[in-house]
Amino acid sequence: MNLSYWEIKSWLTNVDYTIVGSGIVGLNCALQLRRRFPKANILILEKGLLPQGASTKNAGFACFGSLSEIIDDLESHTEEEVFQLVKKRINGLQLLRENLGDKTIDYKPFGGYELFSSHDDLFEKCYAKKDYINTLLKPLFSDEIFSFKTNDFGFKNCKEQVGFNQFEGQIDTGKMMEALLQKVLQNDIKILNGITVNSFSDDTDSVKISTDNFELSTKKLCIATNGFASKLNIDSVKPARAQVLITKPIQDLHIKGTFHLDQGYYYFRNIDDRILFGGGRNLDFNGEETSEFGETELIQNELENILKTTILPETEFEIDHRWSGIMGVGSQKKAIVEQLSNHVYCGVRLGGMGVAIGSSVGKDLADLV
Ligand SMILES: Cc1cc2nc3c(=O)[nH]c(=O)nc-3n(C[C@H](O)[C@H](O)[C@H](O)COP(=O)(O)OP(=O)(O)OC[C@H]3O[C@@H](n4cnc5c(N)ncnc54)[C@H](O)[C@@H]3O)c2cc1C
Repeated sequence: MNLSYWEIKSWLTNVDYTIVGSGIVGLNCALQLRRRFPKANILILEKGLLPQGASTKNAGFACFGSLSEIIDDLESHTEEEVFQLVKKRINGLQLLRENLGDKTIDYKPFGGYELFSSHDDLFEKCYAKKDYINTLLKPLFSDEIFSFKTNDFGFKNCKEQVGFNQFEGQIDTGKMMEALLQKVLQNDIKILNGITVNSFSDDTDSVKISTDNFELSTKKLCIATNGFASKLNIDSVKPARAQVLITKPIQDLHIKGTFHLDQGYYYFRNIDDRILFGGGRNLDFNGEETSEFGETELIQNELENILKTTILPETEFEIDHRWSGIMGVGSQKKAIVEQLSNHVYCGVRLGGMGVAIGSSVGKDLADLV
């Protein structure tokens, strides 16, 4: 199909900034470009009908790391790197809340918990290191971050005490993305959905973009495709699928908060009287290193099993729905925000931290241009 003269003139001509991907990063990048360049033509190209990666699929934890996650990070990163990462997550969350407002994203400061299996010594390890981690992160908080509480939730197969983080919260992911999309449209930024960018090449003063529908030229190109980045030759990012399920509403649900289990490989929360539960990538790292959406029996069965035996052992529940999302991970737990060539930039590899750092990665990406 040939595009019309009008379509080409109004949508695809004189484009100053093109962003690939309408996830948290792409949308925040577009908004920051608009702040910097009030008159510029800004275009977002998105392969999905909706954003189709992780930003509309995630669990909505407004978190900066459980105690065991931070201890684990210290095994492969320096103290300074871990401190800076936590700081980035806290500042990013602050930016998200300031940009959209707590009411809009339904931010709830219910706190975060960590369950420890009765079959290993993770609890003892975390208990021993709690004060050290609290001291390390003290400059970032007014009060003690990590503490322990009695397990009053009726969880089984875990230690009597659960870790508690008073500064962790939760948001409504759908509301956040709806608000961001609305803001982008209100700021006169165009989004074309159902368009996959296949390749791009630098010219002297511009970049040529080839999509599955048309070609266009843009002055600058920002890539915000995270888990799909390797398809555009950003090889330091690998896809990592994450599977989720949600129960039907449960009467008198007493579980409130965000919960981490097994060093964060599993996570659950309350939402609308339901339990949203995800994780299990560690059961099949190789199989889940894919950018194809889908649910597997192996992981979904284990999610259901943990739900029955550990999280809701005394409660009848039914699974309402299952889905998956694609994250972008790599050897370092650090986002890549960099210039790739004269007119091309990227903000990718957000791991499982994009709710927290997505707003600032998007802003930093736009500020590189
Ligand atoms: C199940 C799950 C649970 C999670 N839970 C949390 C959590 O509780 N807290 C937290 O902080 N983080 C969480 N995350 C991580 C967080 O969602 C991501 O880090 C974040 O959404 C990444 O945002 P992004 O904009 O970089 O990428 P994405 O949201 O993946 O956006 C990239 C976009 O680019 C589009 N795209 C890709 N390739 C192309 C192409 N060639 N052409 C056009 N468009 C393209 C995709 O369709 C997609 O919409 C979770 C992730 C998943 C999957």
